[in-house]
Amino acid sequence: MAELNDVITFLGTAGARFVVARQLLASGGAWLSFGDTQILLDPGPGCLVQVAKRKLDPSKLDAIILSHRHLDHSGDINIMIEAMTEGGTKKRGTLFVPADALSEDPVILSYLQAYLQNIEILTEGGHYKVNEVSFDTPIRHKHPVETYGFVFRTLQHTFSWITDTKYFDELPHYYTGDLLIINVVRLDPGAPVDHLSLPEAKKIIEEIKPKAAILTHFGMTMWRAKPWELAKQLTDETGISVIAARDGMRFDLAQVKK
Ligand SMILES: [Zn+2]
Repeated sequence: MAELNDVITFLGTAGARFVVARQLLASGGAWLSFGDTQILLDPGPGCLVQVAKRKLDPSKLDAIILSHRHLDHSGDINIMIEAMTEGGTKKRGTLFVPADALSEDPVILSYLQAYLQNIEILTEGGHYKVNEVSFDTPIRHKHPVETYGFVFRTLQHTFSWITDTKYFDELPHYYTGDLLIINVVRLDPGAPVDHLSLPEAKKIIEEIKPKAAILTHFGMTMWRAKPWELAKQLTDETGISVIAARDGMRFDLAQVKK
């Protein structure tokens, strides 16, 4: 039997309000296809449309993971739960969310929760499993709502995704792996201070030293500065292969040199 690959499909690369509101870039999150396990991460506005456009089948999803409740990450989460469960006709799939996504002012409609096989609450230091894939949420991020990043372990690869957060000194220490994905909203440090900027991303990459890094979740200042040129510059400066994600980009983890 041919070995199944681990592939990440970027259903969007937009971060922050204006790039999302004007859809200068798509904002659908990411589809993680790890062997025969299918996971949807942060289904922001337009996720359903992006999934259809990329010919992905939501009824094949095993899990939906939400890093935090902000709208640019959760906008399409309800319709994606409905799609995963075929309109609630099949009780299936696991939803992983921080507690505040379900508590006051919930971002997940209560009638949809009954469609799911399982709801697991993300916590600091948590360890979770979806079939053969496991992931950790090592540290609560510094962000206005409860937010986690992830260290994923598939049968073949380990990689980390640093989602929205303000920079803090211990941050890089928690994220390891051959590949590092970072949400980089700002070109320069500054307001809104609860997101990472490019110089902070550089510092993190230099400290973690992954074999490759991918930048995504671009705000207006990053987008205007042409992320692909910034990524090339970071590659030259750090000696680590840095790529700027593109809407619809499929990244096969086998591309990361062992
Ligand atoms: Zn956020």
